[in-house]
Amino acid sequence: MMSIAYDDAREAFGRSAARDELLLIDGARVPAISGRTFKSLNPATEEVIATIAEGGAADVDRAVAAARRAFEGPWRTMRAAERGHILLKWAELLKQHADEIIELESLDAGKPIAAVLRQDFPAAIDTLTYYAGWADKIGGDVVSTRDDALTYTVREPVGVVAAIVPWNFPLMIGMWKLAPALACGCTIVMKPAELTSLSALRIGELALEAGLPRGVLNIVTGPGRIAGEALVNHPDVDKVTFTGSPGVGRGIMRGAAGNFKRVSLELGGKSANVIFEDANLDAAAKAAAAGIFFNAGQVCSAGSRVLVQESVYDEVVERLAARASALRIGDPQDRATTLGPVISEKQMKTILDYVDIGKQEGALLVTGGEHVGDRGYFISPAVFANVKHEMRISQEEIFGPVVSVIKFKDEADALRIANGTAYSLAAGVWSSDMGRVQRFAKRARAGTVWINTYGYTDVRLPWGGERDSGLGREHGTAAIDNFTEPKAVWMNLNV
Ligand code: NAD
Repeated sequence: MMSIAYDDAREAFGRSAARDELLLIDGARVPAISGRTFKSLNPATEEVIATIAEGGAADVDRAVAAARRAFEGPWRTMRAAERGHILLKWAELLKQHADEIIELESLDAGKPIAAVLRQDFPAAIDTLTYYAGWADKIGGDVVSTRDDALTYTVREPVGVVAAIVPWNFPLMIGMWKLAPALACGCTIVMKPAELTSLSALRIGELALEAGLPRGVLNIVTGPGRIAGEALVNHPDVDKVTFTGSPGVGRGIMRGAAGNFKRVSLELGGKSANVIFEDANLDAAAKAAAAGIFFNAGQVCSAGSRVLVQESVYDEVVERLAARASALRIGDPQDRATTLGPVISEKQMKTILDYVDIGKQEGALLVTGGEHVGDRGYFISPAVFANVKHEMRISQEEIFGPVVSVIKFKDEADALRIANGTAYSLAAGVWSSDMGRVQRFAKRARAGTVWINTYGYTDVRLPWGGERDSGLGREHGTAAIDNFTEPKAVWMNLNV
Protein backbone atom coordinates (compact mmCIF):
# COMPACT_ATOMS: atom_id res chain seq x y z
CA MET A 1 0.00 0.00 0.00
CA MET A 2 0.76 3.67 -0.02
CA SER A 3 2.66 4.14 -3.25
CA ILE A 4 0.28 6.99 -3.70
CA ALA A 5 -0.16 9.47 -6.54
CA TYR A 6 -0.43 12.39 -4.10
CA ASP A 7 0.96 14.92 -6.59
CA ASP A 8 -1.82 14.23 -9.08
CA ALA A 9 -4.36 14.61 -6.31
CA ARG A 10 -2.85 17.91 -5.17
CA GLU A 11 -2.83 19.26 -8.69
CA ALA A 12 -6.47 18.39 -9.20
CA PHE A 13 -7.27 19.96 -5.88
CA GLY A 14 -5.27 23.11 -6.74
CA ARG A 15 -8.18 25.50 -6.45
CA SER A 16 -8.68 25.20 -2.72
CA ALA A 17 -5.07 24.47 -1.88
CA ALA A 18 -3.97 27.64 -3.62
CA ARG A 19 -6.23 30.06 -1.83
CA ASP A 20 -7.92 30.84 1.42
CA GLU A 21 -11.50 29.83 2.03
CA LEU A 22 -13.82 32.51 3.38
CA LEU A 23 -17.17 32.50 5.13
CA LEU A 24 -20.35 32.75 3.07
CA ILE A 25 -22.61 35.46 4.51
CA ASP A 26 -25.40 37.39 2.80
CA GLY A 27 -24.41 36.17 -0.65
CA ALA A 28 -20.71 37.08 -0.39
CA ARG A 29 -17.50 35.30 0.56
CA VAL A 30 -16.04 37.30 3.45
CA PRO A 31 -13.20 36.91 5.95
CA ALA A 32 -13.94 36.50 9.66
CA ILE A 33 -14.30 39.83 11.44
CA SER A 34 -11.43 38.81 13.72
CA GLY A 35 -9.27 38.01 10.68
CA ARG A 36 -8.49 34.63 12.24
CA THR A 37 -8.05 31.47 10.19
CA PHE A 38 -7.51 27.76 10.77
CA LYS A 39 -5.99 24.97 8.68
CA SER A 40 -7.66 21.95 7.15
CA LEU A 41 -5.54 18.82 6.65
CA ASN A 42 -5.77 15.92 4.24
CA PRO A 43 -6.12 12.95 6.66
CA ALA A 44 -4.32 10.67 4.20
CA THR A 45 -1.17 12.82 3.97
CA GLU A 46 -1.37 15.18 6.97
CA GLU A 47 -0.71 18.05 4.53
CA VAL A 48 -2.48 21.39 4.82
CA ILE A 49 -4.99 21.61 2.01
CA ALA A 50 -6.77 24.86 2.90
CA THR A 51 -6.67 27.87 5.17
CA ILE A 52 -10.19 28.71 6.28
CA ALA A 53 -11.74 31.77 7.91
CA GLU A 54 -12.46 31.09 11.58
CA GLY A 55 -15.91 32.46 12.30
CA GLY A 56 -16.74 33.78 15.75
CA ALA A 57 -19.76 35.21 17.55
CA ALA A 58 -19.67 38.48 15.57
CA ASP A 59 -19.75 36.55 12.28
CA VAL A 60 -22.63 34.46 13.56
CA ASP A 61 -24.49 37.69 14.37
CA ARG A 62 -24.00 38.93 10.81
CA ALA A 63 -25.05 35.60 9.34
CA VAL A 64 -28.18 35.32 11.49
CA ALA A 65 -29.17 38.90 10.61
CA ALA A 66 -28.76 38.10 6.90
CA ALA A 67 -30.80 34.93 7.28
CA ARG A 68 -33.56 36.85 9.09
CA ARG A 69 -33.72 39.49 6.33
CA ALA A 70 -33.86 36.79 3.65
CA PHE A 71 -36.55 34.93 5.57
CA GLU A 72 -38.80 37.97 5.97
CA GLY A 73 -37.96 39.05 2.42
CA PRO A 74 -37.64 36.98 -0.71
CA TRP A 75 -37.58 33.40 0.45
CA ARG A 76 -40.78 32.78 2.38
CA THR A 77 -42.77 35.08 0.08
CA MET A 78 -41.55 33.46 -3.13
CA ARG A 79 -43.97 31.16 -4.95
CA ALA A 80 -43.42 27.68 -3.54
CA ALA A 81 -42.92 26.22 -7.02
CA GLU A 82 -40.23 28.79 -7.70
CA ARG A 83 -38.37 27.71 -4.56
CA GLY A 84 -38.52 24.13 -5.85
CA HIS A 85 -37.17 25.20 -9.26
CA ILE A 86 -34.19 26.92 -7.65
CA LEU A 87 -33.40 23.78 -5.66
CA LEU A 88 -33.62 21.67 -8.82
CA LYS A 89 -31.32 24.09 -10.64
CA TRP A 90 -28.90 23.75 -7.71
CA ALA A 91 -29.01 19.95 -8.07
CA GLU A 92 -28.23 20.32 -11.78
CA LEU A 93 -25.23 22.56 -11.02
CA LEU A 94 -23.95 20.11 -8.42
CA LYS A 95 -24.15 17.33 -11.01
CA GLN A 96 -22.26 19.47 -13.52
CA HIS A 97 -19.53 19.93 -10.89
CA ALA A 98 -19.69 16.33 -9.65
CA ASP A 99 -16.01 15.48 -10.28
CA GLU A 100 -14.76 18.51 -8.41
CA ILE A 101 -17.11 18.07 -5.44
CA ILE A 102 -16.46 14.34 -5.13
CA GLU A 103 -12.72 14.89 -5.17
CA LEU A 104 -12.95 17.70 -2.64
CA GLU A 105 -14.97 15.53 -0.25
CA SER A 106 -12.56 12.64 -0.64
CA LEU A 107 -9.48 14.81 0.00
CA ASP A 108 -10.94 16.75 2.90
CA ALA A 109 -12.58 13.84 4.75
CA GLY A 110 -10.17 11.06 3.69
CA LYS A 111 -13.02 9.10 2.14
CA PRO A 112 -12.32 6.51 -0.56
CA ILE A 113 -13.33 8.27 -3.75
CA ALA A 114 -15.22 5.19 -4.95
CA ALA A 115 -17.47 5.47 -1.89
CA VAL A 116 -18.14 9.19 -2.37
CA LEU A 117 -18.98 8.45 -5.99
CA ARG A 118 -21.31 5.59 -5.10
CA GLN A 119 -22.83 6.82 -1.83
CA ASP A 120 -22.23 10.35 -0.54
CA PHE A 121 -22.69 12.32 -3.74
CA PRO A 122 -25.70 10.48 -5.21
CA ALA A 123 -27.39 10.51 -1.79
CA ALA A 124 -26.90 14.27 -1.53
CA ILE A 125 -28.39 14.80 -4.99
CA ASP A 126 -31.28 12.42 -4.25
CA THR A 127 -32.03 14.32 -1.04
CA LEU A 128 -32.00 17.67 -2.82
CA THR A 129 -34.24 16.59 -5.68
CA TYR A 130 -36.63 14.78 -3.31
CA TYR A 131 -37.16 17.90 -1.19
CA ALA A 132 -37.22 20.21 -4.24
CA GLY A 133 -40.30 18.19 -5.16
CA TRP A 134 -41.79 18.84 -1.71
CA ALA A 135 -41.53 22.65 -1.95
CA ASP A 136 -44.96 23.10 -3.57
CA LYS A 137 -46.64 20.16 -1.85
CA ILE A 138 -46.57 21.33 1.74
CA GLY A 139 -50.21 21.95 2.64
CA GLY A 140 -52.70 21.84 5.46
CA ASP A 141 -56.16 20.38 6.08
CA VAL A 142 -59.66 21.67 6.27
CA VAL A 143 -60.91 20.28 9.58
CA SER A 144 -64.60 19.93 10.50
CA THR A 145 -65.41 21.73 13.75
CA ARG A 146 -68.61 23.87 13.73
CA ASP A 147 -71.27 24.59 11.16
CA ASP A 148 -70.73 28.37 11.42
CA ALA A 149 -66.99 28.28 10.90
CA LEU A 150 -64.39 27.34 8.33
CA THR A 151 -61.44 25.87 10.19
CA TYR A 152 -58.25 24.82 8.53
CA THR A 153 -54.53 24.33 9.13
CA VAL A 154 -51.49 25.63 7.29
CA ARG A 155 -47.84 24.77 7.79
CA GLU A 156 -45.47 27.72 7.97
CA PRO A 157 -41.65 27.71 7.91
CA VAL A 158 -40.09 27.82 11.40
CA GLY A 159 -37.77 30.67 10.43
CA VAL A 160 -33.99 30.88 10.78
CA VAL A 161 -32.37 27.46 11.15
CA ALA A 162 -28.93 26.67 12.58
CA ALA A 163 -27.59 23.52 10.90
CA ILE A 164 -24.58 21.95 12.65
CA VAL A 165 -22.93 19.13 10.75
CA PRO A 166 -20.31 16.47 11.63
CA TRP A 167 -17.22 15.46 9.66
CA ASN A 168 -18.09 11.87 8.76
CA PHE A 169 -20.54 12.66 5.91
CA PRO A 170 -20.18 16.43 5.43
CA LEU A 171 -21.89 16.61 2.05
CA MET A 172 -24.63 14.04 2.56
CA ILE A 173 -25.61 14.93 6.14
CA GLY A 174 -25.30 18.62 5.28
CA MET A 175 -27.82 18.12 2.50
CA TRP A 176 -30.14 16.14 4.82
CA LYS A 177 -30.54 19.46 6.67
CA LEU A 178 -30.28 22.06 3.90
CA ALA A 179 -32.70 20.53 1.40
CA PRO A 180 -35.80 20.12 3.61
CA ALA A 181 -35.23 23.41 5.46
CA LEU A 182 -34.98 25.34 2.20
CA ALA A 183 -37.93 23.53 0.63
CA CYS A 184 -40.05 24.53 3.63
CA GLY A 185 -39.12 28.21 3.18
CA CYS A 186 -36.64 28.47 6.07
CA THR A 187 -33.33 30.30 5.83
CA ILE A 188 -30.13 28.83 7.22
CA VAL A 189 -26.87 29.44 8.96
CA MET A 190 -24.82 26.30 8.55
CA LYS A 191 -21.74 25.40 10.56
CA PRO A 192 -19.76 22.57 9.02
CA ALA A 193 -17.39 20.52 11.20
CA GLU A 194 -14.07 22.34 11.42
CA LEU A 195 -12.28 19.26 10.03
CA THR A 196 -14.38 19.21 6.85
CA SER A 197 -15.64 22.60 5.70
CA LEU A 198 -14.68 22.51 2.03
CA SER A 199 -17.54 20.75 0.25
CA ALA A 200 -20.08 22.89 2.15
CA LEU A 201 -18.43 26.11 1.00
CA ARG A 202 -18.29 24.94 -2.61
CA ILE A 203 -21.91 23.83 -2.76
CA GLY A 204 -22.87 27.09 -1.06
CA GLU A 205 -21.27 29.01 -3.93
CA LEU A 206 -23.16 26.88 -6.42
CA ALA A 207 -26.43 27.55 -4.57
CA LEU A 208 -25.96 31.27 -5.22
CA GLU A 209 -25.26 30.50 -8.87
CA ALA A 210 -28.50 28.52 -8.99
CA GLY A 211 -30.43 31.62 -7.93
CA LEU A 212 -30.78 31.19 -4.16
CA PRO A 213 -31.32 34.76 -2.95
CA ARG A 214 -28.53 36.23 -0.81
CA GLY A 215 -28.84 35.47 2.87
CA VAL A 216 -30.95 32.35 2.40
CA LEU A 217 -27.94 30.05 2.94
CA ASN A 218 -25.06 31.35 5.07
CA ILE A 219 -22.03 29.27 6.04
CA VAL A 220 -19.94 30.10 9.08
CA THR A 221 -16.89 27.87 9.38
CA GLY A 222 -15.03 27.54 12.67
CA PRO A 223 -14.78 25.68 15.93
CA GLY A 224 -17.87 24.19 17.56
CA ARG A 225 -17.19 25.73 20.96
CA ILE A 226 -17.16 29.24 19.44
CA ALA A 227 -19.14 29.50 16.20
CA GLY A 228 -21.36 26.52 17.05
CA GLU A 229 -22.21 27.70 20.55
CA ALA A 230 -22.84 31.26 19.37
CA LEU A 231 -25.37 29.88 16.89
CA VAL A 232 -27.06 27.61 19.40
CA ASN A 233 -27.39 30.43 21.93
CA HIS A 234 -28.44 33.09 19.44
CA PRO A 235 -31.81 34.65 20.34
CA ASP A 236 -32.83 35.14 16.71
CA VAL A 237 -32.33 31.51 15.66
CA ASP A 238 -35.63 29.58 15.68
CA LYS A 239 -34.42 26.00 15.27
CA VAL A 240 -31.27 23.92 15.61
CA THR A 241 -30.76 20.77 13.58
CA PHE A 242 -27.67 18.95 14.80
CA THR A 243 -25.79 15.78 13.98
CA GLY A 244 -22.87 14.86 16.18
CA SER A 245 -21.93 13.43 19.53
CA PRO A 246 -24.30 12.95 22.50
CA GLY A 247 -22.16 15.21 24.72
CA VAL A 248 -22.48 18.17 22.36
CA GLY A 249 -26.15 17.32 21.80
CA ARG A 250 -26.85 17.74 25.54
CA GLY A 251 -25.20 21.17 25.51
CA ILE A 252 -27.29 22.13 22.49
CA MET A 253 -30.52 21.32 24.31
CA ARG A 254 -29.43 23.53 27.19
CA GLY A 255 -28.35 26.36 24.86
CA ALA A 256 -31.58 26.16 22.89
CA ALA A 257 -33.68 26.58 26.04
CA GLY A 258 -33.04 30.35 26.15
CA ASN A 259 -35.64 31.17 23.51
CA PHE A 260 -37.19 27.69 23.23
CA LYS A 261 -35.63 26.88 19.88
CA ARG A 262 -36.95 23.77 18.17
CA VAL A 263 -34.25 21.09 18.36
CA SER A 264 -33.63 17.91 16.43
CA LEU A 265 -30.62 15.78 17.28
CA GLU A 266 -29.03 12.89 15.43
CA LEU A 267 -26.41 11.47 17.77
CA GLY A 268 -24.35 8.35 18.24
CA GLY A 269 -24.87 4.62 18.04
CA LYS A 270 -23.58 1.21 19.12
CA SER A 271 -25.73 -0.77 16.75
CA ALA A 272 -26.09 -4.54 16.99
CA ASN A 273 -26.00 -6.74 13.91
CA VAL A 274 -27.49 -10.05 15.10
CA ILE A 275 -26.66 -13.28 13.26
CA PHE A 276 -28.68 -16.41 14.07
CA GLU A 277 -27.40 -19.90 13.24
CA ASP A 278 -29.99 -20.35 10.46
CA ALA A 279 -28.86 -17.21 8.61
CA ASN A 280 -27.19 -17.13 5.23
CA LEU A 281 -23.75 -16.81 6.82
CA ASP A 282 -21.98 -15.75 3.68
CA ALA A 283 -24.32 -12.81 3.09
CA ALA A 284 -24.41 -11.96 6.81
CA ALA A 285 -20.63 -11.88 7.24
CA LYS A 286 -20.21 -9.83 4.07
CA ALA A 287 -22.77 -7.26 5.23
CA ALA A 288 -21.45 -7.28 8.79
CA ALA A 289 -17.94 -6.42 7.55
CA ALA A 290 -19.27 -3.65 5.30
CA GLY A 291 -21.51 -2.51 8.15
CA ILE A 292 -18.53 -1.73 10.38
CA PHE A 293 -15.66 -1.00 7.98
CA PHE A 294 -17.47 1.35 5.55
CA ASN A 295 -16.11 4.90 6.01
CA ALA A 296 -13.50 3.40 8.39
CA GLY A 297 -16.24 2.75 10.93
CA GLN A 298 -16.99 6.46 11.29
CA VAL A 299 -20.69 5.96 10.77
CA CYS A 300 -23.34 6.67 13.40
CA SER A 301 -25.21 3.48 12.45
CA ALA A 302 -22.06 1.31 12.09
CA GLY A 303 -22.76 -2.28 13.10
CA SER A 304 -20.03 -2.04 15.71
CA ARG A 305 -21.42 -4.99 17.70
CA VAL A 306 -21.86 -8.23 15.80
CA LEU A 307 -23.91 -10.68 17.90
CA VAL A 308 -23.50 -14.29 16.79
CA GLN A 309 -25.33 -17.42 17.98
CA GLU A 310 -22.90 -19.75 19.73
CA SER A 311 -23.06 -22.67 17.24
CA VAL A 312 -21.79 -20.49 14.34
CA TYR A 313 -19.70 -18.04 16.38
CA ASP A 314 -16.23 -19.27 15.40
CA GLU A 315 -17.15 -19.48 11.73
CA VAL A 316 -18.47 -15.91 11.64
CA VAL A 317 -15.40 -14.57 13.49
CA GLU A 318 -13.20 -16.28 10.93
CA ARG A 319 -15.18 -14.90 8.02
CA LEU A 320 -15.15 -11.37 9.46
CA ALA A 321 -11.41 -11.51 10.02
CA ALA A 322 -10.86 -12.71 6.45
CA ARG A 323 -12.99 -9.89 5.08
CA ALA A 324 -11.17 -7.33 7.25
CA SER A 325 -7.79 -8.51 6.01
CA ALA A 326 -8.96 -8.34 2.40
CA LEU A 327 -9.78 -4.61 2.55
CA ARG A 328 -7.50 -2.39 0.51
CA ILE A 329 -6.07 0.34 2.72
CA GLY A 330 -4.55 3.26 0.88
CA ASP A 331 -4.84 6.56 -0.91
CA PRO A 332 -8.51 7.59 -0.88
CA GLN A 333 -8.03 9.09 -4.34
CA ASP A 334 -7.28 5.64 -5.76
CA ARG A 335 -10.53 4.09 -6.95
CA ALA A 336 -9.44 0.63 -5.79
CA THR A 337 -9.09 1.77 -2.16
CA THR A 338 -11.77 0.39 0.13
CA LEU A 339 -10.48 1.66 3.50
CA GLY A 340 -9.19 5.20 3.90
CA PRO A 341 -7.72 6.94 6.93
CA VAL A 342 -9.73 8.06 9.94
CA ILE A 343 -10.40 11.78 10.12
CA SER A 344 -7.68 13.10 12.44
CA GLU A 345 -4.77 12.27 14.68
CA LYS A 346 -7.03 12.78 17.71
CA GLN A 347 -9.60 10.33 16.37
CA MET A 348 -6.84 7.84 15.54
CA LYS A 349 -5.52 8.01 19.12
CA THR A 350 -9.02 7.54 20.54
CA ILE A 351 -9.53 4.42 18.41
CA LEU A 352 -6.11 2.96 19.24
CA ASP A 353 -6.81 3.60 22.94
CA TYR A 354 -10.02 1.57 22.59
CA VAL A 355 -8.02 -1.26 21.03
CA ASP A 356 -5.81 -1.25 24.14
CA ILE A 357 -8.86 -1.11 26.40
CA GLY A 358 -10.35 -4.13 24.59
CA LYS A 359 -7.17 -6.13 25.11
CA GLN A 360 -6.98 -5.12 28.79
CA GLU A 361 -10.62 -6.13 29.26
CA GLY A 362 -9.70 -9.61 28.06
CA ALA A 363 -11.19 -9.61 24.55
CA LEU A 364 -9.23 -11.40 21.83
CA LEU A 365 -7.88 -9.17 19.06
CA VAL A 366 -8.10 -11.51 16.06
CA THR A 367 -6.76 -9.08 13.48
CA GLY A 368 -5.89 -5.40 12.88
CA GLY A 369 -6.06 -2.52 15.30
CA GLU A 370 -2.72 -0.97 14.37
CA HIS A 371 -1.59 2.35 12.97
CA VAL A 372 -0.48 1.65 9.39
CA GLY A 373 2.03 3.59 7.27
CA ASP A 374 4.31 6.51 8.04
CA ARG A 375 1.93 9.32 7.20
CA GLY A 376 -1.82 9.68 7.38
CA TYR A 377 -4.24 8.41 10.00
CA PHE A 378 -4.63 4.84 8.76
CA ILE A 379 -5.72 2.02 11.08
CA SER A 380 -5.92 -1.63 10.04
CA PRO A 381 -9.47 -2.96 10.47
CA ALA A 382 -9.84 -4.69 13.83
CA VAL A 383 -11.92 -7.71 14.83
CA PHE A 384 -12.33 -8.43 18.55
CA ALA A 385 -13.67 -11.87 19.53
CA ASN A 386 -14.74 -13.15 22.97
CA VAL A 387 -16.24 -9.76 23.76
CA LYS A 388 -18.55 -9.67 26.78
CA HIS A 389 -21.61 -7.44 26.72
CA GLU A 390 -20.47 -5.44 29.76
CA MET A 391 -17.04 -4.52 28.33
CA ARG A 392 -16.41 -0.91 27.36
CA ILE A 393 -15.69 -1.90 23.74
CA SER A 394 -19.22 -3.34 23.66
CA GLN A 395 -20.92 -0.37 25.35
CA GLU A 396 -19.12 2.74 24.09
CA GLU A 397 -19.08 4.21 20.61
CA ILE A 398 -15.56 3.88 19.19
CA PHE A 399 -16.28 5.50 15.81
CA GLY A 400 -13.52 3.64 14.02
CA PRO A 401 -12.86 0.36 12.16
CA VAL A 402 -13.21 -1.86 15.23
CA VAL A 403 -15.87 -4.55 15.59
CA SER A 404 -16.81 -6.36 18.81
CA VAL A 405 -18.10 -9.89 18.18
CA ILE A 406 -20.31 -11.12 21.00
CA LYS A 407 -21.71 -14.64 21.54
CA PHE A 408 -25.39 -15.27 22.38
CA LYS A 409 -27.46 -18.37 23.21
CA ASP A 410 -31.00 -17.75 22.01
CA GLU A 411 -33.50 -15.13 20.88
CA ALA A 412 -34.07 -13.67 24.34
CA ASP A 413 -30.34 -13.42 24.97
CA ALA A 414 -29.79 -11.71 21.61
CA LEU A 415 -32.50 -9.16 22.29
CA ARG A 416 -31.22 -8.44 25.80
CA ILE A 417 -27.71 -7.74 24.49
CA ALA A 418 -28.89 -5.83 21.40
CA ASN A 419 -31.03 -3.48 23.52
CA GLY A 420 -28.48 -3.23 26.31
CA THR A 421 -26.65 0.01 25.54
CA ALA A 422 -27.46 3.71 25.93
CA TYR A 423 -28.07 3.95 22.18
CA SER A 424 -30.99 3.09 19.90
CA LEU A 425 -30.17 4.19 16.36
CA ALA A 426 -30.24 0.99 14.32
CA ALA A 427 -30.11 -2.80 14.49
CA GLY A 428 -29.73 -5.66 12.02
CA VAL A 429 -31.00 -9.24 12.21
CA TRP A 430 -30.10 -12.26 10.08
CA SER A 431 -32.16 -15.46 10.05
CA SER A 432 -34.20 -17.56 7.64
CA ASP A 433 -37.01 -17.79 10.23
CA MET A 434 -39.45 -15.02 9.32
CA GLY A 435 -41.27 -15.16 12.64
CA ARG A 436 -38.00 -14.73 14.49
CA VAL A 437 -36.83 -11.72 12.47
CA GLN A 438 -40.23 -10.07 12.87
CA ARG A 439 -40.23 -10.68 16.62
CA PHE A 440 -36.80 -9.09 16.76
CA ALA A 441 -37.87 -6.13 14.59
CA LYS A 442 -40.82 -5.49 16.94
CA ARG A 443 -38.77 -5.52 20.12
CA ALA A 444 -35.50 -3.96 19.02
CA ARG A 445 -34.98 -0.51 20.50
CA ALA A 446 -33.87 1.12 17.28
CA GLY A 447 -35.02 3.82 14.88
CA THR A 448 -34.18 1.54 11.93
CA VAL A 449 -34.17 -2.28 11.74
CA TRP A 450 -32.54 -4.06 8.83
CA ILE A 451 -33.67 -7.66 8.17
CA ASN A 452 -31.23 -9.85 6.23
CA THR A 453 -29.45 -6.69 5.09
CA TYR A 454 -27.54 -3.88 6.77
CA GLY A 455 -26.78 -0.21 6.39
CA TYR A 456 -29.25 1.07 3.81
CA THR A 457 -30.70 4.56 4.23
CA ASP A 458 -33.14 6.38 2.00
CA VAL A 459 -34.31 9.94 2.39
CA ARG A 460 -37.91 8.74 2.01
CA LEU A 461 -37.73 6.81 5.29
CA PRO A 462 -37.43 8.34 8.77
CA TRP A 463 -33.93 8.38 10.28
CA GLY A 464 -32.90 8.84 13.89
CA GLY A 465 -33.08 7.34 17.35
CA GLU A 466 -33.86 7.97 20.98
CA ARG A 467 -31.86 8.28 24.21
CA ASP A 468 -28.14 8.79 23.40
CA SER A 469 -28.97 8.39 19.69
CA GLY A 470 -30.96 11.60 19.59
CA LEU A 471 -34.27 13.34 19.47
CA GLY A 472 -36.74 13.44 16.58
CA ARG A 473 -36.28 12.11 13.06
CA GLU A 474 -34.84 13.40 9.80
CA HIS A 475 -35.91 12.48 6.26
CA GLY A 476 -39.29 11.94 4.61
CA THR A 477 -42.28 13.82 5.96
CA ALA A 478 -40.63 13.97 9.42
CA ALA A 479 -38.24 16.62 8.07
CA ILE A 480 -41.13 18.67 6.70
CA ASP A 481 -42.63 18.65 10.19
CA ASN A 482 -39.24 19.63 11.67
CA PHE A 483 -38.96 22.78 9.58
CA THR A 484 -42.59 23.94 9.69
CA GLU A 485 -45.03 24.96 12.41
CA PRO A 486 -48.71 24.14 12.09
CA LYS A 487 -51.18 27.02 12.41
CA ALA A 488 -54.93 26.70 13.00
CA VAL A 489 -57.17 29.29 11.30
CA TRP A 490 -60.80 29.99 12.31
CA MET A 491 -63.14 31.95 10.09
CA ASN A 492 -66.60 32.95 11.27
CA LEU A 493 -69.04 32.31 8.39
CA ASN A 494 -71.75 34.59 9.83
CA VAL A 495 -70.01 37.95 9.74
P1 NAD B 1 -19.17 16.58 17.49
O1 NAD B 1 -20.37 16.54 18.34
O2 NAD B 1 -17.85 16.78 18.12
O3 NAD B 1 -19.29 17.72 16.38
C1 NAD B 1 -20.40 17.83 15.52
C2 NAD B 1 -20.55 19.27 15.11
O4 NAD B 1 -20.86 20.03 16.27
C3 NAD B 1 -19.31 19.91 14.51
O5 NAD B 1 -19.69 20.83 13.51
C4 NAD B 1 -18.73 20.66 15.69
O6 NAD B 1 -17.94 21.76 15.32
C5 NAD B 1 -19.98 21.11 16.39
N1 NAD B 1 -19.80 21.42 17.81
C6 NAD B 1 -18.86 20.92 18.65
N2 NAD B 1 -19.03 21.45 19.88
C7 NAD B 1 -20.09 22.29 19.81
C8 NAD B 1 -20.76 23.11 20.74
N3 NAD B 1 -20.35 23.19 22.02
N4 NAD B 1 -21.84 23.82 20.34
C9 NAD B 1 -22.27 23.75 19.07
N5 NAD B 1 -21.67 22.99 18.11
C10 NAD B 1 -20.59 22.26 18.49
O7 NAD B 1 -19.27 15.24 16.68
P2 NAD B 1 -18.27 14.72 15.58
O8 NAD B 1 -17.08 14.23 16.32
O9 NAD B 1 -18.06 15.72 14.52
O10 NAD B 1 -19.10 13.50 14.94
C11 NAD B 1 -19.09 12.27 15.51
C12 NAD B 1 -20.36 11.99 16.29
O11 NAD B 1 -21.50 12.26 15.50
C13 NAD B 1 -20.48 10.53 16.67
O12 NAD B 1 -20.94 10.41 18.01
C14 NAD B 1 -21.52 9.98 15.70
O13 NAD B 1 -22.20 8.85 16.11
C15 NAD B 1 -22.40 11.16 15.51
N6 NAD B 1 -23.10 11.07 14.23
C16 NAD B 1 -24.43 10.76 14.23
C17 NAD B 1 -25.15 10.65 13.03
C18 NAD B 1 -26.63 10.32 13.02
O14 NAD B 1 -27.26 10.44 11.99
N7 NAD B 1 -27.21 9.93 14.12
C19 NAD B 1 -24.48 10.83 11.82
C20 NAD B 1 -23.11 11.15 11.86
C21 NAD B 1 -22.44 11.27 13.08
